[in-house]
Amino acid sequence: MKLTNEKVVVCGAGGFIGGHLVKALQNNGVNVVRAVDVKPLEEWYQKSKDVENLVLDLRDKENCYKAAKGTQVVFQLAADMGGMGFIENNKALCMLSVLTNTHMLMAARDSGVERFFYSSSACVYNGDKQKTPDVVPLKEEDAYPALPEDGYGWEKLFSERMCRHFEEDFGLQTRVARYHNVYGPFGTYDGGREKAPAAICRKVIQAKISGKHEIEIWGDGHQTRSFMYVDDCTKGTQAILESDIHEPINLGSNELVTINQLVDIVEEIAGVKLKRTYKLDAPKGVNGRNSDNTKILKYLGWEPSIRLRDGMRKTYEWIESQMLATVAR
Ligand code: NAD
Repeated sequence: MKLTNEKVVVCGAGGFIGGHLVKALQNNGVNVVRAVDVKPLEEWYQKSKDVENLVLDLRDKENCYKAAKGTQVVFQLAADMGGMGFIENNKALCMLSVLTNTHMLMAARDSGVERFFYSSSACVYNGDKQKTPDVVPLKEEDAYPALPEDGYGWEKLFSERMCRHFEEDFGLQTRVARYHNVYGPFGTYDGGREKAPAAICRKVIQAKISGKHEIEIWGDGHQTRSFMYVDDCTKGTQAILESDIHEPINLGSNELVTINQLVDIVEEIAGVKLKRTYKLDAPKGVNGRNSDNTKILKYLGWEPSIRLRDGMRKTYEWIESQMLATVAR
């Protein structure tokens, strides 16, 4: 399937990836008719004038029918989520996203939607395979036997399976991507829901502004991750929706770095060197995680490839502009 005239709704469009996805789809000529989020419009990171922007709580079933009405394609990204600091301390809230996913699937099925995209996460992977920083990249089958991230990861794994069974039992075409750490401008960088790349940018900028050249790092800094720039994420999301990939697939970069190396990159961009302290009891997630991209390369002949250094520069510059604007106010 190649998206042409199909009417598309993006759920979670007031958020980081959803906001970028609306713009990217529009740039590709896709007919995005509706964007939905629970947040008041003034809190959306990005909004498009050319679509119907609806503020709806998608945990509510009736609202899901309003969101899906008259569309042929649903991108379901709405979720109550954040970085490790949020998901380790709000497991029930994370799991309540099951209402959003369940009701959106039912609304899509009953409204004649042709394709349904669901944004799952690398947090579905078995924790036993992520115990050491020199991790073997995670293949899709490593989600089972199931031992996902408590709370958030269990909900994602459950909703993935619901997508599978809605396709098998009701014929709704579902596509599932497992996103690995997405970063970029127009996302959360403070308040408790931010993830490592944005949090590190914020801390380095704060150190620069205050002249106090110190940084606190969560964990020992040796934990490893890969980070995907948001433009790769939106490109892969559309490609997976259009593809014939019926089972969950990794969508992530495989450029592995330690958190210390990520801090090195941000310091270099900022032109500072900071004294590091390590908060060993802070939420830090698994010790190591990387994406095995064999499958996506096989199916799409493509994998996320924007270099971390390049994406982090754009992210840093946006966060700095936001913080300097706040300071100036
Ligand atoms: P985000 O928090 O910026 O966006 C999610 C949006 O969903 C928010 O704007 C939020 O207001 C909205 N939302 C929450 N509850 C809602 C409800 N009941 N009704 C309507 N809208 C609601 O997060 P994001 O980083 O853009 O993530 C988008 C999706 O990708 C999520 O499903 C997330 O779990 C998944 N994901 C993200 C990452 C990442 O690194 N950012 C990694 C793996 C998976």
